[in-house]
Amino acid sequence: MLIRLSKFLSSEQISLKINENFVIDDEVFLSKTHLHKNIVFSGEVFKVDESVVMNGKIEYTLADECARCLKPFDKTIETNFEAVLLQQLDETVEDESDEIRLKITDGCVDLEEIIKQMIYLSLPMKSLCKEDCKGICPNCGVNLNYEECKCENNLTDPRFDKLKDLLKD
Ligand SMILES: [Zn+2]
Ligand SMILES: [Zn+2]
Repeated sequence: MLIRLSKFLSSEQISLKINENFVIDDEVFLSKTHLHKNIVFSGEVFKVDESVVMNGKIEYTLADECARCLKPFDKTIETNFEAVLLQQLDETVEDESDEIRLKITDGCVDLEEIIKQMIYLSLPMKSLCKEDCKGICPNCGVNLNYEECKCENNLTDPRFDKLKDLLKD
């Protein structure tokens, strides 16, 4: 996932737009995250005073599962980051800020690590196949988005009748 910057760095240009399609070939990472291997990176690199700053956007798709009805579906997620690109990374200097720093090596910056980190950080905790997913009937296991269930476990539930009786007293 190398971005070649040597031309840009030696030019008079102030900014450079980037659009790249990357393929993640780390099988362990892919199976852990359920990610589809193709991701889209878009961003811009700016020269600011003495430094170079990158704004990046990562778009990825993962095979998710609805937390309510367990239906598998694909979810596309976007996440953004900003990083400072440096020719020299001084590891001995303690870094107090949480600024992201990436090293430029031979005019290139390798985005693999930062992309993986940003994906980890933005993975959804819980997803629904749709906002108003009706879920699965806990009684008969029917997917209530597609079928009506015959459990009638709503207001006619005998437990509710008991409750109504209790409330009456
Ligand atoms: Zn669902
Ligand atoms: Zn049911």
